[in-house]
Amino acid sequence: MLTDMQIVIMGGDARQLEIIRKFTELDAKLYLAGFEQLEQPFSGAVKEKLHDLNFSHIDAIILPVPGTSLEGEVETIFSSEKIILTEKILQQTPSHCTVYSGISNKYLDNIIKKSNRKLVNLFERDDVAIYNSIPTVEGTIMMAIQNTDITIHQSSIAVLGLGRVGMTVARIFSLLGAKVKVGARKSEHIARITEMGLQPFYLNDLRNEVKDIDICINTVPYPIVDAAVIAQMPSHTLIIDLASKPGGTDFRYAEKRGIKALLAPGLPGIVAPKTAGQILANVLSQLLEEELENRKGKEKR
Ligand code: NAP
Repeated sequence: MLTDMQIVIMGGDARQLEIIRKFTELDAKLYLAGFEQLEQPFSGAVKEKLHDLNFSHIDAIILPVPGTSLEGEVETIFSSEKIILTEKILQQTPSHCTVYSGISNKYLDNIIKKSNRKLVNLFERDDVAIYNSIPTVEGTIMMAIQNTDITIHQSSIAVLGLGRVGMTVARIFSLLGAKVKVGARKSEHIARITEMGLQPFYLNDLRNEVKDIDICINTVPYPIVDAAVIAQMPSHTLIIDLASKPGGTDFRYAEKRGIKALLAPGLPGIVAPKTAGQILANVLSQLLEEELENRKGKEKR
């Protein structure tokens, strides 16, 4: 339970509603900043304007998945209020106050450091990344169906990268009957791809490996699908780039060659916001419960 915890939910999208639902069930005291257009009532959650909030008793601040912009702005789809997280706000919080975000950037890292608070980037956690790979793959399947005129079954697919997303993508497309080859740079990944019953190749041989593919799914956040690689692909190849912006594809060259290349960020929030929100809500409530236990333990000593 999160009884006695005081938490600010600052901005966000539909995923935040699952977090609010879970936290209210766990009896936390919630303040919602940037939610005045939200009609759904949540008992135990109070909507507040950011400048009316008293941060001196706040135990945790929950930011949306993208965190803040480089100017500190926090996106919210439920308000027209401009929400900016500043160093001054953090300094008003108790020293144990922790900020939770999906990812971070220079601005957020900087104000956290200056105010000497703790930041948890949820997307750096393996558990969140692995759970999130499930809706990511479902979104990738949707894109493959919408943008090709062939079945996934029996199509030739190259998956680039065997990280948390790449492994799920490779496995699920293979289960759908595609002929899947997977590119990696580490010999242990080559071994794992072989163990999975898929065809492995080293990424430095990528140019030769794309000559017969229908779909290329990139998960490597590095420019590996370059002009020299794209030049070798059949003209009907579809590139789905899942890597975080700007992706790993030379989109300019793909367009010039007439190859359809799609950057597909944020698929979990698009295809399954409820599940994506539940993934975050479950991990967050576990982390906050641990935090509360630790603090109570220290107070007793
Ligand atoms: P990950 O577990 O870190 O996997 C990244 C993979 O890329 C690893 O196989 C890594 O290989 C490889 N890699 C990294 N740099 C490389 C380089 N310079 N050359 C060759 N290989 C390289 O990350 P993930 O969780 O799978 O996520 C992959 C990407 O998808 C990230 O950019 C993430 O932000 C994004 N993502 C997108 C969505 C979406 O909706 N589109 C959803 C979730 C995640 P090594 O082990 O050899 O380094």
